[in-house]
Amino acid sequence: MAELLGGPSSLALLGALLGVILGSFLNVVAHRLPRQLDRESRAWARDLLALDPETGDGTYNLAWPPSHCPRCKQPLRWFHNLPLVSWLALRGQSACCRQPIALRYPLLEGAMGLMTAFLFLRFGLTVEALALVLLTGTLLALAAIDGEWQLLPDTLTLPLLWLGLLGAVLGWTPALHTSDAIIGAAAGYLSLWSLYWGHRLLTKREGMGYGDFKLLSAGGAWLGWQALPQVALLAAASGLAYALTARLRGRLDPGQAMPFGPFLAAAIWLTAVFGVR
Ligand SMILES: [Zn+2]
Repeated sequence: MAELLGGPSSLALLGALLGVILGSFLNVVAHRLPRQLDRESRAWARDLLALDPETGDGTYNLAWPPSHCPRCKQPLRWFHNLPLVSWLALRGQSACCRQPIALRYPLLEGAMGLMTAFLFLRFGLTVEALALVLLTGTLLALAAIDGEWQLLPDTLTLPLLWLGLLGAVLGWTPALHTSDAIIGAAAGYLSLWSLYWGHRLLTKREGMGYGDFKLLSAGGAWLGWQALPQVALLAAASGLAYALTARLRGRLDPGQAMPFGPFLAAAIWLTAVFGVR
């Protein structure tokens, strides 16, 4: 077994295979979780009428109903539901109603495949690599959901935070001390919290959401407080560069809100993999 999995190319292949399968699950999370939360919050508001047909009727969660076409609701056949392969074979169109398949499906699967292969190559088949696969998947799902809905669900950010702290206690990342992870979690939350309130008191506008504080808090738990300046700088710089480009191309109006989660997620991932430079 060790010999079979020992070579770098078989490690990369194993990572890519695991990654696209996980990526396929991330798509389920990215598609269903925001709709499920929306449905629950509407039920909370006792506004059970006039619901989106996708979210309105019956049980709806990550496991139910089985995979179906989001447009015509036909169940997917297993060979139309293979990660990446089916999208390529179908040339980006659904088999049932010939509508374009959202680009998020192949993108998440491809990204998770490449990143998992990279993690296995860099860290080997270790506990650290598997922990980073968990971090990578959660960050990708968060980035996809925030990019589409401007929402970083607590159901993803909080478990990520607790897992980071638990990982520090259990020694998933050899170099991370538990005290650094705890201080990192607190400092990550408080730094953006104070920035938010400072900005809000000065401009009477909201610059960020609470989800961003929780995500940076999770980043601090996974990376230790020492990594927070680099994470904040990378996220702010890439977010600003994106905003400027989007403004120049006329895709972002002045004052229009822009999700910050994808940039935070990318900064956390890069720092987790390449360390503090
Ligand atoms: Zn269809």
